[in-house]
Amino acid sequence: GSGLVRAGLLIVVWAAVATAAAADAVLDPPADAPPLGRLGDAVVPTRYHLALVIDSERETFEGVATIDVDIRRPASRIWIHGADLDVASVTLVSEGRRIAGRYREVDAAGVARVDLDRVPERGPARLEVHYRAAFSGTPEGLYRVRMGDDAYVFSHFQASAARRVFPAFDEPGFKVPFAIEVTAPVGHHVITATREVDTRRVRGSLSGSMMRWRFALTPPLPTYLLAFAVGPFDVVDARPLPANSVRSWSVPLRGVAVRGRGPELAHALRHTQPLVEAFERYLELPLPYPKLDLIAVPDFAAGAMENVGAVTYRDDLLLIGTNPAAGAARRFASVHAHELAHQWFGNLVSPRWWDDLWLNESFASWLGARIGHQVFPTLGLDTETLDAALAVMVDDSLPSARQVRQPVETPHDIANAFDSITYSKGAAVLRMIEHDVGVTAFRDALRLYLRRFASGVADTDDFLDSLDRASADPRFREMISSFIDQPGTPLIDTRLVCADGRAEARLQQRRSLPLGVSVQSSGLWDLPVCLRYPTAAGGSAIRCERMRERALVVPLPASHCPGWILPNADAMGYYRFTLDAKSWNAAFEHLDAMTPAEARMLFASLSSGFRAGEVSAASLLMGMRRAAQHPDWEVATAQLGNMIRLKAFYPDASPARVALKRLIVELYDERLDALGLAPRPDEPELHALNRRVLARAVALHGADPDWRARLRPFARRYLDAPALSPRGIDPELLEIALAVELATSNAQRFEELAAQAVENEDPRFRRRMLGALATGATSDRAPTLFALLGASELHDHEAVRLARRMASNPALDDVLWAWMSEPENLDALLERFPSRRRGSVIALAAGACDRGRIDSLATLFAPRLDAMPGGPRVLRQAEDTIERCAALRERYRRPLAQALGAGG
Ligand SMILES: [Zn+2]
Repeated sequence: GSGLVRAGLLIVVWAAVATAAAADAVLDPPADAPPLGRLGDAVVPTRYHLALVIDSERETFEGVATIDVDIRRPASRIWIHGADLDVASVTLVSEGRRIAGRYREVDAAGVARVDLDRVPERGPARLEVHYRAAFSGTPEGLYRVRMGDDAYVFSHFQASAARRVFPAFDEPGFKVPFAIEVTAPVGHHVITATREVDTRRVRGSLSGSMMRWRFALTPPLPTYLLAFAVGPFDVVDARPLPANSVRSWSVPLRGVAVRGRGPELAHALRHTQPLVEAFERYLELPLPYPKLDLIAVPDFAAGAMENVGAVTYRDDLLLIGTNPAAGAARRFASVHAHELAHQWFGNLVSPRWWDDLWLNESFASWLGARIGHQVFPTLGLDTETLDAALAVMVDDSLPSARQVRQPVETPHDIANAFDSITYSKGAAVLRMIEHDVGVTAFRDALRLYLRRFASGVADTDDFLDSLDRASADPRFREMISSFIDQPGTPLIDTRLVCADGRAEARLQQRRSLPLGVSVQSSGLWDLPVCLRYPTAAGGSAIRCERMRERALVVPLPASHCPGWILPNADAMGYYRFTLDAKSWNAAFEHLDAMTPAEARMLFASLSSGFRAGEVSAASLLMGMRRAAQHPDWEVATAQLGNMIRLKAFYPDASPARVALKRLIVELYDERLDALGLAPRPDEPELHALNRRVLARAVALHGADPDWRARLRPFARRYLDAPALSPRGIDPELLEIALAVELATSNAQRFEELAAQAVENEDPRFRRRMLGALATGATSDRAPTLFALLGASELHDHEAVRLARRMASNPALDDVLWAWMSEPENLDALLERFPSRRRGSVIALAAGACDRGRIDSLATLFAPRLDAMPGGPRVLRQAEDTIERCAALRERYRRPLAQALGAGG
């Protein structure tokens, strides 16, 4: 338990700490403020020895942490990280003499001070801490998961939860080796960064016989990359990754799953070697760690985590059997490639501090998709970075958007750093720069960067220096900086001007902003701009320019006035554009002259014009129809999101809403019919994704009765025998079929199905059912879902996802908000989120379209922001999102209804 004391500073005193120390903290607040950002370098670690006792049947674990440190500026006070640790003793050995110390945690973020009886000597010393701690109640730090009769222990440390498991210098820049010993019950496996070097039986104090596992010294690693898994696992030995031209040794590979599920790791294990080898060839560097374990975790608060030697995955991504359906294969390939890319970007070279997190996440996202596509060319990973870029440009248009490289000074900043800006915008910038620098020179820059900083830490300047050297061209530095050191999506206003036999494109850049908001700086970027336009010969040409000023005139070497222009050729640029009404129509008429990626960029630009209120309802409607006719399915569905959003602007049975639903069905019905509900033999894997998007559109958003009638029987068959995927339907459609079934079932049946969702232990069945419950629910079914959110049978990550899916169902927005507004409900919901994610709870209330919500949001959350990492920025983003929706509804409700022929 913990007590909260206010004494000038906010001081949290853990009741477990010795009473005398607690009393001190209350009466005598520390003279100097605890460092909530970085600890500084007065004392730095050089090596850890951790001896832990982890028994999954107990409530607590215990440990002895022995940390070799270098004392650079001697003082009687040492700042260190520790959260909820019950410390029995702390001693510093300096110059062979033992100095007693007292440990106390002085901030909720996990900052502790050690006060020593004497000032130690400068130089090497050894800090020894004996402690115990409770397993965490949420999936972070060290936490337990019960599966049937078995209990397992897993860990997740990123970004700041290692301090919940041992006292630590818990920053990415402190990169040192770890010697690890774990004592666990006989019959349990212990997995960590390296392989065990010996195991021996010891007497357990409480629970009988125990086994002590001693592990090989790890390579240098930051605390956040350490992992533990302890329990009666299935451990599957796969074929080791054989030596190759880059790596002269073989690497043992294993899969780890809860008891009974080991065989379901087959696909994941079989497809690891080609991926690892493709990275090794591209980077010309071997996998930097001596073994690789893939761990399927039943309750996990992220998709996966790239821990050194022990990569953890949410179990449904990894447990996909021997011959998974296309959707499952794609999700696995995408996540696995991302985590493997981290073995170099993040693990071999780690960021000095969290403000350089993009060196991990942008690089792993971009390179993961690139190498993933090379190894699995049929899964559609080639468009993953573009997909993410088009999506993040919307977030990046909000006035509250972060920079990719945002200063990080507080725990709030650390939480905010793990967002779509870091992952997707950063990846999109790398894609653009690779295109501009050239594929080979860019690859050489990455190789040089990794070699220079291997086993160490680096920052953005280090990367940019490597790029300078490899490209022999300093201009890329400024270009990258203009995208990562300022927020916002650039927008290029484009006008095609023809006069006196000459044609030119007149470009103006500004920041893309939604309707109804303004910001102080309109932004100026160093943009690589490429224009595509038709030539007299009947083809098209591309002209590229560097745009550094507000305005640029690009002469087009055409003997006639080009009939159309596409201002982001190859869709490589991280920017959107506007056209006048005539040029939009001309572009729609010439979609066949553009690549699918270009057509998607065109429609994404149309959407940003819509969000800015600058596109007429007629052009918007025209764009929806034109897109839907495109042969490429991703282009065809590019305007679907707008249709769904607009639908929510009108009341349930209103003519405009009915017209939009009809339009969705009209535009996509035949396409879905052509694909069919069942996969055809030898069809491309991408058809599965296309089928899912189309079925969701016609059956759920369009509510088409015929498609609903076709889908419902499959839901019933699946519910009768959940272990089997029914014949005649793509498994990707099962969640949609279930949602149809739930949308049309009475209250009693809805409740029965909700109960079924948590009784079954198959993670994929649960995931489908929970998604369907949230999607298929109307407001009067919400109480069943609220009960589920609190049900102990639901893993925390499932509850978080259920809440998010409920928030994306407009029919539940009001009831969800009313429920969250009750303090006891909100507290219970917050308990489901790992502490580092609690700020994101606010986003659940951002689905509203009325400005009244903005005030109630602030009233509810402002007093709680201290305990919600990342909350202040998420609150501003939620306010921006609601404001944007309200402004768009006012702008388009009447004109769009008229354009639809559905009255004013
Ligand atoms: Zn990552």
